[in-house]
Amino acid sequence: MILTINCGSSSLKYKLYPSDLSDVLAQGLIERISAANASCSHEARGQKVRLTPNLLDQLSAFELMVSNRTDPEIGVIASLEAVTGIGHRLVHGGTEFTGSIVVGNDAMERLRKCAWLAPLHNPACIAGIDLARDLIPNAPNVAVFDTAFHQTLPAKAHTYALPYELCTDHGIRRFGFHGISCQFVSRVAAQVLSRPIEDLSMVVCHLGNGVTIDAVQGGRSVDTSLGFGTFSGIPMGTRSGDFDPAIVFHLVKTLGMSIEDVEKMCYTQSGLLGLSGLSNDMREILAAASNGDTRCSLALDSFVYSIRKTIGAYAAAMNGLDVLVFTAGIGENSATIRSRICSRLGVLGIAIDERTNEIAGPELPNITAADASVTTLVIPTDEERMIATEVRTLMSRHQSAA
Ligand code: ADP
Repeated sequence: MILTINCGSSSLKYKLYPSDLSDVLAQGLIERISAANASCSHEARGQKVRLTPNLLDQLSAFELMVSNRTDPEIGVIASLEAVTGIGHRLVHGGTEFTGSIVVGNDAMERLRKCAWLAPLHNPACIAGIDLARDLIPNAPNVAVFDTAFHQTLPAKAHTYALPYELCTDHGIRRFGFHGISCQFVSRVAAQVLSRPIEDLSMVVCHLGNGVTIDAVQGGRSVDTSLGFGTFSGIPMGTRSGDFDPAIVFHLVKTLGMSIEDVEKMCYTQSGLLGLSGLSNDMREILAAASNGDTRCSLALDSFVYSIRKTIGAYAAAMNGLDVLVFTAGIGENSATIRSRICSRLGVLGIAIDERTNEIAGPELPNITAADASVTTLVIPTDEERMIATEVRTLMSRHQSAA
């Protein structure tokens, strides 16, 4: 069986798959680790249980995950021996990791050197690998990186026009994120169309709390909207998206803000929340805008407009477009946002069937209008399944090499 683990600074998400990935045997989410109100939801054998455990730290969360899995009532396996591979999501692998890896001692050292790249996420993931190696010692660990899919970006797309040596000496470049999701949905899109991925130019719109627009040509990421950090491109839930760096100088030099306050503002007080003054949650913004809230209407206009511009830019970058894919919380669930984005992209050959758009879902992914030359799809993302697929691929490569 394959176990996937996604460790955040205060959360732990896990899924257990049979080795052929034909099903999900168990899954759970442990939240608010170390806080008084820690909670855990665990689902297996068609039953969902909610626990309110006392979790001092990540180790106790791990122990809870292990005991849930082997519990005679809510568990699915008699012993951890049944786990044959563990996949870990790592947010940032920098330029060091261009693909998934089986983690041995050397790799562990290389991973630790990448911790600084995502200080809120990487240390928790690395600690998670340490714990998995201790608690489930028989199973190999595979690290899967959100940045790896974008390592194929050509230099013209990943290099910033800053002093060249400064960038190369200090690893400053566009990294891109949400790569696991973009890789997964682009593969599924090709399967849905029964076309070789090598023949397709796609734009993937991963629209969740974080947003990535990704140009995927021949199955390789060739441009992407997030950059060195996780706030460029499109306005997100609380992150600003693109803005002129001159504003930072103005805020610091003229208004006297500290650089820490500017950073906090860009990451936590901007985007949909900053524009609307109401919420970072798209459902609330849509509801308020339809009740006449002008700030929420502006947040929607700005969100949709910047996505539309980026789709146009990437169609130009790839010299054409075959497929447009919507995924993640907003992309999968909001017919209104999909419709607004596509409504003025006729110039690219994009048009959607509004009736199908309203009822799109896993059984009905294709929302393309009859006269459109670009196919538009709605594809639910499944990062855990992509991670489990990587574990399977690496383990079979590992076994045939051995
Ligand atoms: P995360 O990046 O945290 O994984 P998700 O992919 O879960 O985020 O997406 C969260 C976003 O999806 C939120 O803005 C939420 O409002 C939005 N969302 C979820 N369901 C709907 C819906 N039915 N209509 C509009 N937006 C939705």
